[in-house]
Amino acid sequence: MAAAVSMRSPASAKDELRSEACPECGGTKERGRSFCRACYLTLPLRLRSALYEGLTGGYAKAYNDALLYLHQRRNKPRGLDARSAGWFYTSAGELEAAGYRRLARARCKFDACRAVIHWWEAPDGRKIPLDPDTLTPHRRTCPGISRPRRRGKR
Ligand SMILES: [Zn+2]
Ligand SMILES: [Zn+2]
Repeated sequence: MAAAVSMRSPASAKDELRSEACPECGGTKERGRSFCRACYLTLPLRLRSALYEGLTGGYAKAYNDALLYLHQRRNKPRGLDARSAGWFYTSAGELEAAGYRRLARARCKFDACRAVIHWWEAPDGRKIPLDPDTLTPHRRTCPGISRPRRRGKR
């Protein structure tokens, strides 16, 4: 679905290290860094450390992996990711038209919630629990999930 990202040769990947323009967003970056800070921070840890390790060899691969990741992230269609602010489906008809498939009805596993949820399967195979009335992703309304950050605690 996303357009292809142009892959860098080892030489041009190293060349771009010397540039002061971020290859992803066109913003300014420090020389010697692969991306601007904002783009770098959206990379998952494994891609960040691959960039460091790659400096001794295989840097172009790590760099291209990171470029591809950023590119796909930017081109992700709205509505596909239930965690993003882009969720805009309000009826089963809209979901089905977008390629979603209704799965089973269930109950939320959190004791603090136990609400009825409807599982839907996204076109990319991901399973998303929705509130049956509003078709909002349940993780947005679930009182059993602590928000906004779940990182580091259970
Ligand atoms: Zn950038
Ligand atoms: Zn819940």
